[in-house]
Amino acid sequence: MHDPNPPHQVVSASGVTLTLADGTELLDGMSSWWAAVHGYRHPRLDAAVMKQLDSMAHVMFGGLTHEPAVELVRRLVDLTPAGLDHVFLADSGSVSVEVALKMALQYQRGRGQAQRTTMLSIRGGYHGDTFGAMSVSDPVGGMHEMFTDTLASTVFLPRPPAGLDADIDAWIAESTSLVEQHADRVAAVIVEPVLQGAGGMHVYPPAVVRWLREQADAHGWLLILDEIATGFGRTGTMFATERAGVVPDVMCVGKALSGGYLTLAAALCTSDVVEGVEASEAGALMHGPTYMGNPLACAVASASLDLLGENDALAAVARVNAGLESGLAPARDLGHVLDVRTLGAVGVVQLDRPVDIPVAARAAAGLGVWIRPFRDLVYVMPPYVSTDDEVARMAAAVVAAAQSCV
Ligand SMILES: *Cc1c(COP(=O)(O)O)cnc(C)c1O
Repeated sequence: MHDPNPPHQVVSASGVTLTLADGTELLDGMSSWWAAVHGYRHPRLDAAVMKQLDSMAHVMFGGLTHEPAVELVRRLVDLTPAGLDHVFLADSGSVSVEVALKMALQYQRGRGQAQRTTMLSIRGGYHGDTFGAMSVSDPVGGMHEMFTDTLASTVFLPRPPAGLDADIDAWIAESTSLVEQHADRVAAVIVEPVLQGAGGMHVYPPAVVRWLREQADAHGWLLILDEIATGFGRTGTMFATERAGVVPDVMCVGKALSGGYLTLAAALCTSDVVEGVEASEAGALMHGPTYMGNPLACAVASASLDLLGENDALAAVARVNAGLESGLAPARDLGHVLDVRTLGAVGVVQLDRPVDIPVAARAAAGLGVWIRPFRDLVYVMPPYVSTDDEVARMAAAVVAAAQSCV
Protein backbone atom coordinates (compact mmCIF):
# COMPACT_ATOMS: atom_id res chain seq x y z
CA MET A 1 0.00 0.00 0.00
CA HIS A 2 1.14 3.55 -0.63
CA ASP A 3 2.78 5.01 2.45
CA PRO A 4 4.37 8.42 2.44
CA ASN A 5 6.56 7.32 5.37
CA PRO A 6 8.61 4.36 4.21
CA PRO A 7 9.98 2.10 6.96
CA HIS A 8 13.59 2.21 8.05
CA GLN A 9 15.68 -0.68 6.84
CA VAL A 10 17.35 -2.42 9.78
CA VAL A 11 20.51 -4.34 8.91
CA SER A 12 21.44 -5.58 12.38
CA ALA A 13 20.52 -5.28 16.03
CA SER A 14 22.63 -5.81 19.10
CA GLY A 15 22.03 -5.07 22.77
CA VAL A 16 19.32 -2.41 22.72
CA THR A 17 20.54 -0.81 19.48
CA LEU A 18 19.12 -1.11 15.97
CA THR A 19 21.52 -0.35 13.11
CA LEU A 20 19.98 1.02 9.91
CA ALA A 21 21.20 0.60 6.35
CA ASP A 22 22.64 4.11 6.30
CA GLY A 23 24.64 3.42 9.49
CA THR A 24 22.25 5.27 11.83
CA GLU A 25 21.99 3.69 15.27
CA LEU A 26 18.72 3.89 17.21
CA LEU A 27 18.00 2.72 20.76
CA ASP A 28 14.94 0.50 20.59
CA GLY A 29 12.33 2.04 22.88
CA MET A 30 9.73 -0.49 21.70
CA SER A 31 11.56 -3.76 22.47
CA SER A 32 10.17 -4.92 19.10
CA TRP A 33 6.51 -4.78 20.14
CA TRP A 34 7.44 -5.27 23.81
CA ALA A 35 9.06 -8.67 23.28
CA ALA A 36 12.85 -8.23 23.20
CA VAL A 37 13.28 -7.84 26.95
CA HIS A 38 16.91 -9.05 26.96
CA GLY A 39 17.91 -7.02 23.91
CA TYR A 40 19.22 -8.32 20.60
CA ARG A 41 21.86 -10.93 19.79
CA HIS A 42 22.02 -11.99 23.40
CA PRO A 43 24.77 -14.62 23.47
CA ARG A 44 22.72 -17.02 25.58
CA LEU A 45 19.63 -16.74 23.39
CA ASP A 46 21.66 -17.02 20.19
CA ALA A 47 23.35 -20.12 21.62
CA ALA A 48 20.04 -21.72 22.58
CA VAL A 49 18.76 -21.42 19.01
CA MET A 50 22.04 -22.69 17.50
CA LYS A 51 22.18 -25.65 19.85
CA GLN A 52 18.59 -26.62 19.08
CA LEU A 53 19.26 -26.27 15.36
CA ASP A 54 21.90 -28.99 15.73
CA SER A 55 19.18 -31.51 16.73
CA MET A 56 16.14 -30.36 14.73
CA ALA A 57 14.40 -27.16 13.72
CA HIS A 58 10.89 -28.59 13.86
CA VAL A 59 8.74 -31.69 13.96
CA MET A 60 4.96 -31.91 14.07
CA PHE A 61 3.44 -31.82 17.57
CA GLY A 62 0.62 -34.30 17.01
CA GLY A 63 1.50 -37.78 18.22
CA LEU A 64 5.09 -36.58 18.69
CA THR A 65 6.68 -34.56 21.46
CA HIS A 66 10.17 -33.34 22.34
CA GLU A 67 12.28 -32.12 25.20
CA PRO A 68 12.33 -28.38 24.33
CA ALA A 69 8.51 -28.24 24.56
CA VAL A 70 8.31 -30.42 27.68
CA GLU A 71 11.00 -28.36 29.38
CA LEU A 72 9.32 -25.07 28.51
CA VAL A 73 5.84 -26.04 29.66
CA ARG A 74 7.26 -27.34 32.96
CA ARG A 75 8.86 -23.97 33.52
CA LEU A 76 5.70 -22.09 32.60
CA VAL A 77 3.69 -24.14 35.06
CA ASP A 78 6.26 -23.35 37.77
CA LEU A 79 6.47 -19.64 37.00
CA THR A 80 2.77 -18.83 36.59
CA PRO A 81 0.22 -18.59 39.43
CA ALA A 82 -0.46 -21.91 41.21
CA GLY A 83 -3.24 -23.98 39.63
CA LEU A 84 -2.36 -23.22 36.01
CA ASP A 85 -1.01 -26.73 35.45
CA HIS A 86 -1.82 -27.30 31.77
CA VAL A 87 -0.32 -25.58 28.76
CA PHE A 88 -1.38 -25.25 25.14
CA LEU A 89 1.43 -23.94 22.92
CA ALA A 90 0.29 -21.56 20.20
CA ASP A 91 2.15 -19.74 17.49
CA SER A 92 1.11 -16.17 18.27
CA GLY A 93 -0.64 -14.18 20.93
CA SER A 94 -3.81 -13.85 18.89
CA VAL A 95 -3.95 -17.60 18.37
CA SER A 96 -3.52 -18.20 22.10
CA VAL A 97 -6.55 -15.95 22.66
CA GLU A 98 -8.56 -17.96 20.12
CA VAL A 99 -7.53 -21.10 22.00
CA ALA A 100 -8.54 -19.57 25.34
CA LEU A 101 -11.98 -18.67 23.95
CA LYS A 102 -12.41 -22.20 22.58
CA MET A 103 -11.37 -23.63 25.94
CA ALA A 104 -14.15 -21.60 27.56
CA LEU A 105 -16.79 -22.62 24.99
CA GLN A 106 -15.86 -26.31 25.12
CA TYR A 107 -15.66 -26.18 28.93
CA GLN A 108 -19.18 -24.82 29.13
CA ARG A 109 -20.47 -27.50 26.74
CA GLY A 110 -18.74 -30.16 28.85
CA ARG A 111 -20.50 -28.75 31.90
CA GLY A 112 -23.91 -28.93 30.23
CA GLN A 113 -23.99 -25.17 29.70
CA ALA A 114 -23.97 -25.06 25.90
CA GLN A 115 -26.13 -21.92 25.95
CA ARG A 116 -23.15 -20.00 27.37
CA THR A 117 -21.67 -18.73 24.11
CA THR A 118 -21.10 -15.06 24.88
CA MET A 119 -17.87 -13.48 26.07
CA LEU A 120 -17.71 -10.59 28.50
CA SER A 121 -14.96 -7.99 28.53
CA ILE A 122 -14.25 -4.38 29.45
CA ARG A 123 -13.97 -1.48 27.06
CA GLY A 124 -10.52 -0.37 26.04
CA GLY A 125 -9.04 -3.85 25.69
CA TYR A 126 -6.92 -5.33 22.92
CA HIS A 127 -6.57 -9.08 22.47
CA GLY A 128 -5.23 -9.49 18.94
CA ASP A 129 -6.18 -9.33 15.29
CA THR A 130 -7.85 -12.68 14.53
CA PHE A 131 -11.65 -12.77 14.54
CA GLY A 132 -12.27 -14.20 17.99
CA ALA A 133 -9.66 -11.90 19.47
CA MET A 134 -11.13 -8.93 17.63
CA SER A 135 -14.58 -9.75 18.96
CA VAL A 136 -13.44 -9.27 22.57
CA SER A 137 -11.28 -6.20 21.86
CA ASP A 138 -12.65 -2.70 22.29
CA PRO A 139 -15.46 -2.35 19.74
CA VAL A 140 -14.57 1.24 18.90
CA GLY A 141 -10.89 1.77 19.62
CA GLY A 142 -9.82 -1.78 18.83
CA MET A 143 -8.78 -1.08 15.23
CA HIS A 144 -11.54 -3.48 14.10
CA GLU A 145 -14.60 -1.27 13.90
CA MET A 146 -15.20 -2.00 10.21
CA PHE A 147 -15.56 -5.74 10.91
CA THR A 148 -18.22 -5.28 13.60
CA ASP A 149 -21.04 -6.95 11.67
CA THR A 150 -19.00 -10.12 11.20
CA LEU A 151 -17.83 -10.44 14.80
CA ALA A 152 -19.35 -12.49 17.60
CA SER A 153 -21.17 -10.12 19.93
CA THR A 154 -19.48 -9.52 23.25
CA VAL A 155 -20.87 -7.87 26.37
CA PHE A 156 -18.62 -4.94 27.28
CA LEU A 157 -18.46 -3.46 30.75
CA PRO A 158 -17.30 0.15 30.95
CA ARG A 159 -13.56 0.86 30.98
CA PRO A 160 -12.44 0.85 34.62
CA PRO A 161 -11.21 4.14 36.10
CA ALA A 162 -7.54 5.10 35.69
CA GLY A 163 -4.91 4.45 38.33
CA LEU A 164 -3.97 1.53 40.56
CA ASP A 165 -5.80 2.97 43.57
CA ALA A 166 -8.82 4.54 41.92
CA ASP A 167 -12.19 4.09 43.62
CA ILE A 168 -14.21 1.49 41.73
CA ASP A 169 -17.59 1.72 43.47
CA ALA A 170 -19.24 3.68 40.67
CA TRP A 171 -17.71 1.35 38.08
CA ILE A 172 -19.04 -1.69 39.96
CA ALA A 173 -22.50 -0.16 40.19
CA GLU A 174 -22.58 0.47 36.44
CA SER A 175 -21.14 -2.97 35.62
CA THR A 176 -23.47 -4.88 37.94
CA SER A 177 -26.58 -4.08 35.92
CA LEU A 178 -24.90 -5.30 32.72
CA VAL A 179 -23.71 -8.45 34.49
CA GLU A 180 -27.20 -9.16 35.83
CA GLN A 181 -28.67 -8.74 32.37
CA HIS A 182 -26.33 -11.18 30.64
CA ALA A 183 -24.85 -13.46 33.34
CA ASP A 184 -26.59 -16.67 32.22
CA ARG A 185 -25.31 -16.68 28.66
CA VAL A 186 -21.71 -15.68 29.40
CA ALA A 187 -19.04 -18.37 28.94
CA ALA A 188 -16.03 -16.36 30.08
CA VAL A 189 -14.76 -12.92 30.94
CA ILE A 190 -11.50 -11.90 29.30
CA VAL A 191 -9.35 -8.89 30.25
CA GLU A 192 -5.75 -7.70 30.30
CA PRO A 193 -5.09 -7.44 34.05
CA VAL A 194 -4.14 -4.00 35.43
CA LEU A 195 -2.65 -2.61 32.19
CA GLN A 196 -4.55 -2.41 28.91
CA GLY A 197 -1.81 -2.20 26.28
CA ALA A 198 -2.59 -1.49 22.62
CA GLY A 199 -6.09 -0.35 23.65
CA GLY A 200 -4.62 2.76 25.25
CA MET A 201 -1.84 2.04 27.79
CA HIS A 202 -4.49 2.33 30.48
CA VAL A 203 -3.57 1.43 34.07
CA TYR A 204 -6.55 0.39 36.21
CA PRO A 205 -7.09 -0.94 39.74
CA PRO A 206 -6.24 -4.59 40.56
CA ALA A 207 -9.47 -4.52 42.60
CA VAL A 208 -11.32 -4.72 39.27
CA VAL A 209 -9.62 -8.04 38.51
CA ARG A 210 -10.63 -9.32 41.97
CA TRP A 211 -14.22 -8.27 41.36
CA LEU A 212 -14.27 -10.02 37.98
CA ARG A 213 -12.92 -13.17 39.65
CA GLU A 214 -15.80 -13.01 42.16
CA GLN A 215 -18.35 -12.48 39.38
CA ALA A 216 -16.92 -15.38 37.37
CA ASP A 217 -17.20 -17.67 40.40
CA ALA A 218 -20.69 -16.48 41.29
CA HIS A 219 -22.08 -16.84 37.76
CA GLY A 220 -20.24 -19.90 36.42
CA TRP A 221 -17.97 -18.10 33.94
CA LEU A 222 -14.30 -18.74 33.36
CA LEU A 223 -11.86 -15.89 33.98
CA ILE A 224 -9.36 -15.52 31.13
CA LEU A 225 -6.46 -13.17 31.77
CA ASP A 226 -4.53 -11.96 28.74
CA GLU A 227 -0.96 -11.45 30.01
CA ILE A 228 0.52 -11.35 26.51
CA ALA A 229 1.72 -7.76 26.98
CA THR A 230 2.02 -7.69 30.76
CA GLY A 231 3.65 -11.07 31.44
CA PHE A 232 7.28 -11.77 32.37
CA GLY A 233 7.86 -8.71 34.52
CA ARG A 234 6.86 -5.85 32.24
CA THR A 235 4.55 -4.19 34.79
CA GLY A 236 6.80 -4.75 37.81
CA THR A 237 5.53 -8.14 38.97
CA MET A 238 6.21 -11.36 37.06
CA PHE A 239 2.55 -11.37 36.00
CA ALA A 240 0.27 -8.36 36.36
CA THR A 241 -2.42 -10.45 38.06
CA GLU A 242 -0.10 -10.88 41.05
CA ARG A 243 -1.03 -7.30 42.05
CA ALA A 244 -4.61 -8.53 42.37
CA GLY A 245 -3.71 -11.86 43.96
CA VAL A 246 -6.02 -13.52 41.46
CA VAL A 247 -5.50 -16.88 39.76
CA PRO A 248 -7.37 -17.05 36.45
CA ASP A 249 -8.87 -20.20 34.94
CA VAL A 250 -7.04 -19.53 31.69
CA MET A 251 -4.03 -17.29 31.09
CA CYS A 252 -2.50 -16.24 27.77
CA VAL A 253 1.19 -15.39 27.47
CA GLY A 254 3.20 -14.41 24.41
CA LYS A 255 5.34 -11.48 23.28
CA ALA A 256 8.29 -11.59 25.76
CA LEU A 257 7.88 -15.37 26.18
CA SER A 258 10.56 -16.05 23.56
CA GLY A 259 12.67 -13.00 24.44
CA GLY A 260 11.67 -11.46 21.12
CA TYR A 261 13.38 -14.17 19.05
CA LEU A 262 10.63 -16.30 17.52
CA THR A 263 6.86 -16.26 17.44
CA LEU A 264 5.48 -18.24 20.36
CA ALA A 265 2.58 -17.98 22.80
CA ALA A 266 0.73 -20.20 25.22
CA ALA A 267 -2.68 -20.57 26.83
CA LEU A 268 -2.38 -22.07 30.32
CA CYS A 269 -5.36 -23.45 32.19
CA THR A 270 -6.44 -25.28 35.34
CA SER A 271 -7.29 -28.98 35.70
CA ASP A 272 -10.94 -27.99 36.07
CA VAL A 273 -10.87 -26.44 32.59
CA VAL A 274 -9.18 -29.53 31.15
CA GLU A 275 -11.86 -31.76 32.67
CA GLY A 276 -14.61 -29.59 31.24
CA VAL A 277 -13.04 -29.62 27.77
CA GLU A 278 -12.63 -33.41 27.97
CA ALA A 279 -16.31 -33.76 28.85
CA SER A 280 -17.38 -31.80 25.76
CA GLU A 281 -18.57 -33.87 22.82
CA ALA A 282 -15.22 -33.47 21.01
CA GLY A 283 -13.33 -34.95 23.98
CA ALA A 284 -10.28 -32.84 23.16
CA LEU A 285 -9.49 -29.21 22.48
CA MET A 286 -10.33 -28.47 18.87
CA HIS A 287 -7.19 -26.63 17.85
CA GLY A 288 -3.91 -27.83 16.36
CA PRO A 289 -1.46 -25.36 14.81
CA THR A 290 0.93 -26.75 12.16
CA TYR A 291 3.96 -25.26 13.89
CA MET A 292 2.74 -26.00 17.40
CA GLY A 293 5.55 -26.34 19.93
CA ASN A 294 8.26 -25.32 17.48
CA PRO A 295 11.49 -26.58 19.09
CA LEU A 296 13.60 -23.54 18.18
CA ALA A 297 11.02 -21.22 19.73
CA CYS A 298 10.65 -23.42 22.82
CA ALA A 299 14.42 -23.65 23.31
CA VAL A 300 14.94 -19.91 23.12
CA ALA A 301 11.93 -19.31 25.40
CA SER A 302 13.42 -21.55 28.07
CA ALA A 303 16.74 -19.71 27.76
CA SER A 304 14.86 -16.42 28.06
CA LEU A 305 13.14 -17.59 31.25
CA ASP A 306 16.60 -18.56 32.58
CA LEU A 307 17.83 -15.02 31.96
CA LEU A 308 14.76 -13.48 33.66
CA GLY A 309 15.65 -15.39 36.80
CA GLU A 310 19.43 -14.99 36.70
CA ASN A 311 19.33 -11.28 35.89
CA ASP A 312 16.66 -10.50 38.49
CA ALA A 313 14.26 -9.10 35.91
CA LEU A 314 12.01 -7.52 38.52
CA ALA A 315 14.90 -5.50 39.96
CA ALA A 316 15.84 -4.44 36.43
CA VAL A 317 12.25 -3.39 35.75
CA ALA A 318 12.17 -1.37 39.00
CA ARG A 319 15.38 0.37 37.93
CA VAL A 320 13.94 1.13 34.47
CA ASN A 321 10.80 2.44 36.16
CA ALA A 322 12.78 4.89 38.28
CA GLY A 323 14.53 6.14 35.14
CA LEU A 324 11.24 6.57 33.30
CA GLU A 325 9.62 8.38 36.25
CA SER A 326 12.38 10.98 36.43
CA GLY A 327 13.02 11.14 32.69
CA LEU A 328 9.38 11.69 31.72
CA ALA A 329 8.62 14.18 34.51
CA PRO A 330 9.41 17.25 32.32
CA ALA A 331 6.52 16.24 30.03
CA ARG A 332 4.13 17.13 32.88
CA ASP A 333 4.91 20.80 32.25
CA LEU A 334 3.82 20.70 28.61
CA GLY A 335 0.47 22.42 28.03
CA HIS A 336 -0.88 19.76 25.65
CA VAL A 337 0.03 16.80 27.88
CA LEU A 338 -2.96 15.27 29.67
CA ASP A 339 -1.15 12.61 31.66
CA VAL A 340 2.26 11.08 32.32
CA ARG A 341 2.25 7.60 33.79
CA THR A 342 4.60 4.70 34.35
CA LEU A 343 4.07 1.12 35.45
CA GLY A 344 7.08 -1.15 35.62
CA ALA A 345 9.09 -0.81 32.42
CA VAL A 346 6.31 1.11 30.67
CA GLY A 347 6.39 4.90 30.33
CA VAL A 348 3.51 6.80 28.75
CA VAL A 349 2.85 10.42 27.82
CA GLN A 350 -0.75 11.07 26.81
CA LEU A 351 -1.54 14.18 24.79
CA ASP A 352 -4.80 16.10 24.47
CA ARG A 353 -4.68 15.46 20.69
CA PRO A 354 -3.71 12.73 18.26
CA VAL A 355 0.04 12.31 17.89
CA ASP A 356 1.45 13.36 14.51
CA ILE A 357 3.18 10.00 14.27
CA PRO A 358 5.81 10.66 11.56
CA VAL A 359 6.73 14.00 13.15
CA ALA A 360 6.96 12.50 16.65
CA ALA A 361 8.94 9.47 15.50
CA ARG A 362 11.33 11.75 13.62
CA ALA A 363 11.83 13.93 16.70
CA ALA A 364 12.75 10.83 18.72
CA ALA A 365 15.00 9.48 15.96
CA GLY A 366 16.79 12.81 15.99
CA LEU A 367 17.81 11.93 19.54
CA GLY A 368 18.79 8.42 18.47
CA VAL A 369 15.71 6.57 19.73
CA TRP A 370 13.15 4.39 17.93
CA ILE A 371 9.53 4.80 19.07
CA ARG A 372 6.19 4.14 17.43
CA PRO A 373 3.45 6.28 18.99
CA PHE A 374 -0.24 5.61 18.40
CA ARG A 375 -3.41 7.59 18.83
CA ASP A 376 -2.78 10.22 21.53
CA LEU A 377 0.05 8.24 23.15
CA VAL A 378 3.82 8.57 23.03
CA TYR A 379 5.34 5.74 25.03
CA VAL A 380 8.37 3.54 25.58
CA MET A 381 8.73 -0.06 26.71
CA PRO A 382 12.52 -0.41 27.01
CA PRO A 383 14.30 -3.75 27.04
CA TYR A 384 15.00 -4.64 30.70
CA VAL A 385 18.75 -4.63 29.98
CA SER A 386 18.76 -0.92 29.06
CA THR A 387 21.31 1.00 31.13
CA ASP A 388 20.27 4.03 33.18
CA ASP A 389 21.79 6.25 30.51
CA GLU A 390 19.87 4.48 27.76
CA VAL A 391 16.59 4.77 29.68
CA ALA A 392 17.28 8.49 30.21
CA ARG A 393 17.86 8.92 26.47
CA MET A 394 14.64 7.05 25.65
CA ALA A 395 12.65 9.18 28.11
CA ALA A 396 14.16 12.39 26.73
CA ALA A 397 13.17 11.26 23.22
CA VAL A 398 9.58 10.70 24.36
CA VAL A 399 9.47 14.19 25.83
CA ALA A 400 10.90 15.63 22.60
CA ALA A 401 8.39 13.63 20.54
CA ALA A 402 5.54 14.96 22.70
CA GLN A 403 6.92 18.49 22.30
CA SER A 404 6.97 18.07 18.52
CA CYS A 405 3.19 17.61 18.48
CA VAL A 406 2.17 21.16 19.44
C1 LIG B 1 0.07 -8.25 21.22
C2 LIG B 1 -1.09 -8.69 21.97
C3 LIG B 1 -1.91 -9.73 21.51
C4 LIG B 1 -1.72 -10.39 20.17
O1 LIG B 1 -0.49 -11.05 20.07
P1 LIG B 1 0.11 -11.37 18.60
O2 LIG B 1 1.33 -12.21 18.90
O3 LIG B 1 0.43 -10.05 18.00
O4 LIG B 1 -0.93 -12.10 17.85
C5 LIG B 1 -2.96 -10.14 22.31
N1 LIG B 1 -3.19 -9.56 23.51
C6 LIG B 1 -2.42 -8.57 23.99
C7 LIG B 1 -2.71 -8.00 25.34
C8 LIG B 1 -1.35 -8.09 23.23
O5 LIG B 1 -0.61 -7.08 23.70
